[in-house]
Amino acid sequence: MKRTRIVDLLKSVDYGQEVLVKGWVRTRRNSKSVGFIALNDGSTIKNIQIVADMEKFSDDLMKKITTGACLSVTGTMVQSIGSGQAVEVQADKIEVLGTCDDDYPMQKKGQSFEYMRQNAHMRLRTNTFGAVMRIRHNMSIAIHKFFHDHGFYYFHTPIITASDCEGAGNMFQVTTLDLAKVAKDGEVDYSQDFFGKHVNLTVSGQLEGELGATALGAIYTFGPTFRAENSNTPRHLSEFWMIEPEVCFIDLPELMDLEEKFIKYCVQWALDNCSDDLEFLNNMIDKGLIERLKGIVNTEFVRLSYTEGIEILQKAIRGGRKFDFPCNWGDDLSSEHERYLVEEYFKKPVIMTHYPKAIKAFYMKIDEQNPVYDGKEMDQTVQGTDMLFPQIGEIIGGSVREENYDKLVNEIEERNIPMKDLWWYLDTRRFGSCPHAGFGLGFERLILFITGLQNIRDVIPFPRTPRNVEF
Ligand code: ATP
Ligand code: MN
Repeated sequence: MKRTRIVDLLKSVDYGQEVLVKGWVRTRRNSKSVGFIALNDGSTIKNIQIVADMEKFSDDLMKKITTGACLSVTGTMVQSIGSGQAVEVQADKIEVLGTCDDDYPMQKKGQSFEYMRQNAHMRLRTNTFGAVMRIRHNMSIAIHKFFHDHGFYYFHTPIITASDCEGAGNMFQVTTLDLAKVAKDGEVDYSQDFFGKHVNLTVSGQLEGELGATALGAIYTFGPTFRAENSNTPRHLSEFWMIEPEVCFIDLPELMDLEEKFIKYCVQWALDNCSDDLEFLNNMIDKGLIERLKGIVNTEFVRLSYTEGIEILQKAIRGGRKFDFPCNWGDDLSSEHERYLVEEYFKKPVIMTHYPKAIKAFYMKIDEQNPVYDGKEMDQTVQGTDMLFPQIGEIIGGSVREENYDKLVNEIEERNIPMKDLWWYLDTRRFGSCPHAGFGLGFERLILFITGLQNIRDVIPFPRTPRNVEF
């Protein structure tokens, strides 16, 4: 007989039919004459209840049916009274595929997230992590579908890269050199290294993405990125997944429209396709989750310039609001400032634009006019966009790119970025340069928002953070 997945079984009301189910025991309880086994096969958050008549099965077999054990059950679908589902399975035959030793770490319910992280190899078997992983999958599909439907091509940028202009300090080096020998020699000869030069793991696929976009019109990347920054926060991973669309012939308002439409599409997708898992998370983790997700889909995001943002923050400070960090014009906003704007002042997502160029990357297009703040003309600003979300802070960073060769070279020189590493990038501005823009979404930040979880280590199967990589 062919196995039926529990997700499909629960949809059918074919009482009397014989079925085969396989999965792991979530709980088991007994009455005098029957055992009730909640079986889960990962296809859904929901369990199927297996009813086992004690007389039919040996004590020896029943002893092996403990939490975590893997079973194969053949039985009859019957209408259920009281299991919370419409159907249950009256067992005819039970085979224990894998017994579960009694030190199974996921035996007890209600363990802390920290305990789960310490048992990351087994935590995937729990309801919470099952829900998060199914949502991760669904959001990946949503992202591909959105871009595919909007004419973007999925473009694969390299993971090993020779360009280190973007994140010099916080890149992971890739080498096959014998470091012990290098230490003895006291000198590194990169010409002897695998690629014959110094290479790193990518921090972003954007620059290579621009090569794709200026050939295909519109592309998106969706791949792993690596950052060796020593920030042990609930929002940062050393290895995370990033989605980076890059589009030709759009300007700043069109970029913001794309960002907003895309994020709302993803949230709506979760509401439409992950309702069981979201309901579970809403009940167990965050009672306001589904309301918050619905709210996002139905609100228009605020669009605000950096200068206006600083004005609001300064006014709050004058009114007695205290922040840990200063926020004068020119400062990079810290997450307390971003969260004040999003959670207290506007109470909705904010797309902030027109940042001082000194706090943004070299490739962002410079604004025509300098802003006036406090009656004074300030430094140049750029057409960068940060989308700020409740609970998360920055979820998207994007910009219109500088397409003018001379202006771009000027920025690179001003910032002392080694020009020789960027010749290939600069060529896009020499050979048929075009206006274009793009953004980067941190996939795990999106999943944090969709699931209502608090720590980014809990929304990726195998988190990598400073001093933490188990397997
Ligand atoms: P932050 O200021 O939060 O450190 P960033 O400005 O360095 O982020 P970008 O370089 O703009 O980030 O990267 C684009 C997006 O990637 C961010 O908007 C965020 O969603 C995500 N992101 C950046 N760094 C990390 C990280 N260490 N872990 C997980 N996601 C990240
Ligand atoms: Mn950013």
